[in-house]
Amino acid sequence: MHLALQDRVVVLTGAASGIGLACLKAFATEGCAVVAADIDRVRLDEAVAAADGRVVAQVADVTDPAQVQALVDRAIEEFGCLDVMFNNAGGAFPTPTETQSLDDYRRIIALNLDSVYYGIHAALPVMLAQGRGCILSTTSGAGLNAVDGLAAYGAAKAGVISLMKSVATEFGGRGIRANTLSPGPMDTPGLRAWLETFPDGPARYGRQVPSGRLGTGEDIAHTALFLASDAAAYINGVVIPVDGAIHARLASPH
Ligand code: NAD
Repeated sequence: MHLALQDRVVVLTGAASGIGLACLKAFATEGCAVVAADIDRVRLDEAVAAADGRVVAQVADVTDPAQVQALVDRAIEEFGCLDVMFNNAGGAFPTPTETQSLDDYRRIIALNLDSVYYGIHAALPVMLAQGRGCILSTTSGAGLNAVDGLAAYGAAKAGVISLMKSVATEFGGRGIRANTLSPGPMDTPGLRAWLETFPDGPARYGRQVPSGRLGTGEDIAHTALFLASDAAAYINGVVIPVDGAIHARLASPH
């Protein structure tokens, strides 16, 4: 299938690592113009230097609405329009709920939920004026089912799903598509840092996935490319698990 993404203009957050880095490479390779954003200046510059094509780096903290707005403004200034707003930056910081501070709770909600609202809020006026636009956001299996120690993160990621469905239904008739990617356990620096706190953590977790391995950033990137393309023109308001079926399985005595 030819996705015909050449010259599409993409804003991508969390572009310096893991899923975002794989998506940056994939969109750039397809010929998209990308505003690649991350809070980590050093890794962002490395990522952009390694990507082929029309890619600009912009350091941004997605918990600050003005910095998210600046990403959309940069896309318009540099490339003249905005086709894809990809709200990917986020992160889980497992903490037992009974000892979690309220500041920590608010930080997790700001990073994983507020940031997505800011991305939608910044992108929508431009996309509505264009009469077209694709919004992608990254949720998590923890937004669909409970994971111990991830109550705040799970609530934020469930909120992402709800926000994205609202955008799809409210603005679908005006050319906007809003779809959500739900990664399973992906072998990214973000997840690996946590898995390595368990004995044999990455390999053991990989064996629990019905597909027999941890996912990769590329697994998400391939799905994101499809969702961003006109081949997915009638897909709107969905949550797509890219998870090797880990979330399809219930616990059993086997
Ligand atoms: P990662 O830690 O490898 O990369 C996340 C990137 O986001 C980093 O480059 C980091 O610098 C950036 N970032 C963090 N805070 C930021 C901020 N305030 N502003 C801008 N950038 C910021 O993580 P990943 O595994 O690639 O995760 C990407 C997304 O996928 C996140 O939303 C995460 O919650 C979600 N997710 C990941 C997994 C997984 O198994 N890896 C599973 C489910 C969901």
